[in-house]
This record gives sequence, C-alpha cells and structure tokens, in this order.
Amino acid sequence: MANKLPSELTPRLYLDRRTDELTAFLQKIVRLRTVNPPGENYGPLTLLLASTLKDLGFKVRRIPIPRALQKKTLPDLLAYPRYNVIGFWDTGAKKTIHFNAHYDVVPVSGKWRHGTAFNPIIERGWIYGRGTADMKGAIASIIFAIQALQQTGVRPNFNIEVSFVADEETDSALGTGWITQYSKLRADYAVVGEGGEGNAVCCGHNGVVWLNVKVHGKAAHGSLPTQGINALEKMAALVLALNSYKRQLARQTFRAPNGEMLRPTINIGGVFSAGEGGKVNTVPAAASFTIDRRVLPNENVRTAERALTAFLKLAARKIPQCRITVSKISDNFSCYRPPSHPLFTALQASVTRIRRRPTNFVVSTGFNDMHFFAQVKKIPTVGYGPGGIDYHGVDERARVKDLVDSAKIYADLLTTFQG
Ligand SMILES: [Zn+2]
Repeated sequence: MANKLPSELTPRLYLDRRTDELTAFLQKIVRLRTVNPPGENYGPLTLLLASTLKDLGFKVRRIPIPRALQKKTLPDLLAYPRYNVIGFWDTGAKKTIHFNAHYDVVPVSGKWRHGTAFNPIIERGWIYGRGTADMKGAIASIIFAIQALQQTGVRPNFNIEVSFVADEETDSALGTGWITQYSKLRADYAVVGEGGEGNAVCCGHNGVVWLNVKVHGKAAHGSLPTQGINALEKMAALVLALNSYKRQLARQTFRAPNGEMLRPTINIGGVFSAGEGGKVNTVPAAASFTIDRRVLPNENVRTAERALTAFLKLAARKIPQCRITVSKISDNFSCYRPPSHPLFTALQASVTRIRRRPTNFVVSTGFNDMHFFAQVKKIPTVGYGPGGIDYHGVDERARVKDLVDSAKIYADLLTTFQG
C-alpha cells in the first residue's frame, strides 16, 4: 500500500493551507463586539469560544463571575455579566502549558478607512477591525495552533490549558485577576498572547500605580479672592513641584535584555477637573488630577506608591494653605524574569525558526496580564502573539502572515520545548 501517511502533513503546512479559515474565524469573533467598557456581548462570545474548544476535545469551563462579586466591583454594569472560559486538553503529559488571551476590546471612535470596526475586511494581507491586533488575533492563532497539531497527528509535549478572559482593557480584576486567584488552574508555564510580537519576545513588563489627588480650597466671591483658597492655584503649584520628582525618577533605570534602558515615568493629569459649583466669579473650592506612575520591573509597586504619596504630602505642606487628599485608583504589579529560562529560550528558538530572523527579548513599558501568572501563580510566563498596528485606534489591524506565523510558533513551541 502506498498510502500517503498523514504525518507528511506538518502543522506548518496545515496552517499554510488553512489561512482562510483562520481569518474567517477571526472575522467572526471580531463581529461579536465585546466592547469594554461596558462589557458587551461577553455571553455570546464566550459561548462561541467554549464550543470551539469543546470541538477540539477540550474539557471546558465557562465560568460566570458571581453576581454578588460583580455587584461589589462593577455595580453600574450588572446588565453586562462577566464570563471567563478555561479549557483543558489532557494529552497525558506530565506538565501543562497555559495560553491566555483577553477577548474584550476598547470602544471605537473616529472614522475607519478600511472597512468598519466590527465588520472586518482583508486588504493586501492585513485584516482590519477592532480587536484584530488587541487581541482576538491571538485567540485565533492559539485555536489554530491546537487544531494544526491535532489534525496532523502531532502530539504536544504538554497538556494544554487555555483561558479566554474578560476585562483586560479595564483592570483584569474579573478576568485574569479572578481566574488566577479563584479558579483551579493546572498551568506550569504560561504564554500570554501579547506583549511580544514579530521578532520580539516579552519577558516582563512595567507595573503601574494610578492615583487621584484632590486639592481642597475654599470658595469665596470672585471679587474678593483673598477671602478664599484657590484650589486651582494650589494644584498648579503642586503640579510644578512634581517636576523635581520627575528628575528624581529619571535617575532610576532598568536595562532590558535587548539593551533598551527603561526609566520610571509619571503622567500628570490624564484626568483633571474642578469641583462642583465652579463659576467664573467664584474662587474654586476644589480641584483634582490623576497621576499615572509606571513602575519598573526592579521597583516595588507598593514602595513606589508610598514614595509618591509621601512626596505629594510633603510638597503640599510647603505650599501655604494647600490641603490635599491622595487616593489610589488602581495598581498592577510589574514582572520580569531573565530570559535564560528554558521556556524563554525555546520560544525564542521557535520564533527564529518560523520567522527566520534573530529574535530578542523585550520588556514592555505598558502592562498586560502576564504579571498575574508570573506574580500570583509564580510560574515562568512569556508574552508573544501576532500583534498588529494601531492598537486602540482607527484602522486597527493585524497582518495575516503574523497570525499564521504565531499559530506556527505556538505549535512549534509545544513540540520542541521540553519543560
Ligand atoms: Zn490587549
């Protein structure tokens, strides 16, 4: 018998032949507009993702966030229930690799030139649509990597666990934050499908502290300004005082493996506002502004928060009649692991093999869900996915070749990494 053995079809070849299916699947999940906030269509999309994983033979849990918890954390959004999908494929291996991707996308504004945000089109090798780059493209690559292994009869070296999660675009509290704290996970290693892309593998990211600073003044008639305390003027003085804090921060560094030098930053006044009762002829009684403090992987988020708060309080004390309240909006841990770990070098080798170019390691200035696996689960965690262009913007897009390459890279990693 001269039957063609199925083993001649490699995962790579399979994926080359299924490019149209992969992009069709991505188009389908982009059309389900899972805009967050507020968190639309989480129900239908997670049903679709759960059934897709079931068809691949996964044991699937589609976990609703308990209503009581959502009531506590997102009281205004009870009409938008949260779900996370966790799938597990027991291949009989000893260890488990976990693939994570968030399915929520940011709201849309502006006029798209290529298709519309939720009716994705493909033009000259790019697929346009909200979430194609951030990060439904990664969901498609993960699913097709698994399908390619199964259809070509190639056994991965690991059990595969997958999580498709909510709310990364807000604070991840009911998404990856929740599953890493409350769900039973089998993960020994994690690959988060963003942070690294192209020939860059992400081995860590900055953390963040978001603060709100409220300045308390005293209202008075605009014709008698000396009888009041002008909160805006106090706020302006405080903002100027922060310049010296910026200089202080600029002296701190973290060197990423690719040689890039990271420094902590603060962004002041992403949101700023007056208090109630503002009038042209009234001395402003209140003013507030936010601070976005990015925290290096070699800093501690709590220490950074305490130091910044202490600086603000001291600076306020030096400004006459400047009374402030500092409150935390939210924070996120940084994470970093030197890329000498075998998971990192194996992924680097896979990327280099598929993309045929040298691959380096980067540390992302923004944060993603990696830190939950790295810091809460304390397992080796990398960030890599198809990525794209114009994240959160008009004409967000992913390159079709990168989607297929990422699927090939995931499949390659699953068969070459030894654990
Ligand atoms: Zn993202």
